[in-house]
Amino acid sequence: MTAPVAGRKDRAAGRYYIETWGCQMNVLDADKMSGALEQHGYVRVAAADQADVVLLNTCSIREKAKEKVFSELGRLKPLKDERPDVVLGVCGCVAQQEGAEIFSRAPYVDFVLGTRATRSLPILVDRLRAGDESARHAVDVELRDDSIAFPFDQIRRDVEGAAKAFVTIIEGCNHRCTFCIVPQTRGREISRDMDDVLNEVRSLAAGGFREVEFLGQTVNAYRDDFGRTLGDLLRATARIDGVERIRFTTSHPAQMTDSLMDAMAAARPKLCSYLHLPVQSGSSSVLAAMRRGYDRDGYLAKIRGLRDRMPELCLGTDVIVGFPTETERDFEETLSLLDEVGYDTVYSFAYSVRPGTKALTLGPDLPEELKFERLARLNDVQRAIQERRNQRWIGRTVSVLVEGPNRRNSLEWTGRTPEARWVHFDGDTAAGRVETVRVAEASAFSLRGEIVAGA
Ligand code: SAM
Repeated sequence: MTAPVAGRKDRAAGRYYIETWGCQMNVLDADKMSGALEQHGYVRVAAADQADVVLLNTCSIREKAKEKVFSELGRLKPLKDERPDVVLGVCGCVAQQEGAEIFSRAPYVDFVLGTRATRSLPILVDRLRAGDESARHAVDVELRDDSIAFPFDQIRRDVEGAAKAFVTIIEGCNHRCTFCIVPQTRGREISRDMDDVLNEVRSLAAGGFREVEFLGQTVNAYRDDFGRTLGDLLRATARIDGVERIRFTTSHPAQMTDSLMDAMAAARPKLCSYLHLPVQSGSSSVLAAMRRGYDRDGYLAKIRGLRDRMPELCLGTDVIVGFPTETERDFEETLSLLDEVGYDTVYSFAYSVRPGTKALTLGPDLPEELKFERLARLNDVQRAIQERRNQRWIGRTVSVLVEGPNRRNSLEWTGRTPEARWVHFDGDTAAGRVETVRVAEASAFSLRGEIVAGA
């Protein structure tokens, strides 16, 4: 029998620790798993060595992300050797992708649970902790369709001062981009009922949340069983009292339709003037090889459509450099696209080979040095663009939703503008408030200023 753990709450069924990597969808999975365990009486702890249940909630979007999981498993092995009763599970995208293969590299892992199997977590954990040997090395990677029907409002934890909430509206992805593992790890698209989403937003607004961000791998593919779309959801959300800021991410350009653009314009000014629209490459031939469903001109036409309706709109994007078919000329087209669009934010990635994807058949992987040289060139070009674009905020006042103290300088506060610019500033405030800040300085990545008294 194990001795009671010091400090354990009286009625707690056990203590769990969860480490999460990856995108907002992985964060949501962590919330679902925490919610499921907490409903079964588990309490969360901040370190693996204090826990009875250790969960690695993983990301496999690039090879490096996957390897991090195995190195963390290596670090956890001594804990498992010392306390074999600790239950160790691998969850999320690496679990979905690798399944039972994980046991051949790390046999001390107890179970593997995929992205749409989070509901079975407490039962599995209870069986393992009760010594049920038949549960050891369990693998559940079924891509269930009912994972979207989740009591989302019951799993949101109260965070003091939190003013922003993420609301998942669609899971999975029906696109078949040749570089991407997401369709394998997250299954096909399933959308939540719009009334259910709106009820959640109303209760968030009543609870003091001022900003909601709708989430999905391809959020603009949202369509519920009654045919209601993201455009319908934006218009309805803009009418809810108490909601001051609305965002959504991540959009696919192929589904950025005229009617969605109209709805976005109608939902202004509550809809924030920032859109993340991943382009991936500025070369039409690379886009065709990636099977993105648009070419350079088509993407630029969407940008024009958006800016015609919302001239103030700021844009962000994702870019992959070093795709197997990418030539120097293709890469230069990506550089010129950055200039032509004038993005405020670019997330750039060196192409990473993913198992089971079509890109594997399109040509040999480019040398790593070439990929990283292109990545560095792209980042230099984009840094200069961002520096220029951020300079135009100097002297202006911006509205900042305060997120908390600046992590690099706790004497300052940090928050975001509707345009998704980070602003650091001095003054007397608190997390969750909206402040008017006059911008005095700008770098490529943030703005700095002071609260305007009495604004
Ligand atoms: N579903 C979203 C989309 O397609 O726009 C975002 C998914 S992913 C979490 C975020 C970004 O990772 C992608 O937009 C892409 O730029 C990058 N990515 C995906 N697969 C990759 C790969 N094999 N190598 C490098 N970057 C990749």
